[in-house]
Amino acid sequence: MKTGILGGTFDPVHNGHLAIAEEARSYLNLDEVIFLPAGQPWMKADRSISPARDRVAMLRLALQDKPRFKLSTMEVEYEGPSYSVDTIAQLKATAAEASDIYFIIGWDNLNKLPRWKDPGRLIELCFLAAVPRPGYDRPNMKKLETELPGISKKVILMDEPRLDISATDIRNKAAQGLPIGQLVPAVVEKYIKENGLYQKKWDN
Ligand code: ATP
Repeated sequence: MKTGILGGTFDPVHNGHLAIAEEARSYLNLDEVIFLPAGQPWMKADRSISPARDRVAMLRLALQDKPRFKLSTMEVEYEGPSYSVDTIAQLKATAAEASDIYFIIGWDNLNKLPRWKDPGRLIELCFLAAVPRPGYDRPNMKKLETELPGISKKVILMDEPRLDISATDIRNKAAQGLPIGQLVPAVVEKYIKENGLYQKKWDN
């Protein structure tokens, strides 16, 4: 088994997330990709995050017709901040079948990985599939290797897809009443409208 994991805030899930999951799935021949919404992201403590029930509901809608994409609510059910290293260790320990884990992250996040909790253990537990993110430089693997020895052997640097989509931009557009139909699946756009999400101005 080869399992991809895409962790994130998913506030909201967007076409960029779906594209990187699909690209990683086909490029790495993954059996499945698990979307893993964060409960209380420690990196985004400076802004309010939509309730987990909305973020999870939008993910369920976006993934409903994609049999190879799964949803894990493990982190949202856990009270307090969760860390990727602990979640991946737990997923591996509780998986029905032994599986190689490919943690999918944007180039933006790979550069910050040495400052995550227990990064040495994280790279022992999984591979990292690093996908490009417009506006961010290709990760400097030499620099990363000095910060976290061993990381280069665990990183697969991907060159596709390149989609300039962020949840921040979507929240800002929705707050201004601008169209977001090109950026999120239609079912997610409908959920945002029907539930009045992102109506106030988001600054970041
Ligand atoms: P926000 O704008 O609220 O910070 P986001 O769009 O970055 O949100 P997250 O849920 O934080 O979305 O992202 C989850 C993961 O997906 C991260 O590893 C992030 O780097 C990656 N990611 C999100 N959007 C893209 C994109 N357009 N291209 C490549 N990677 C992306």
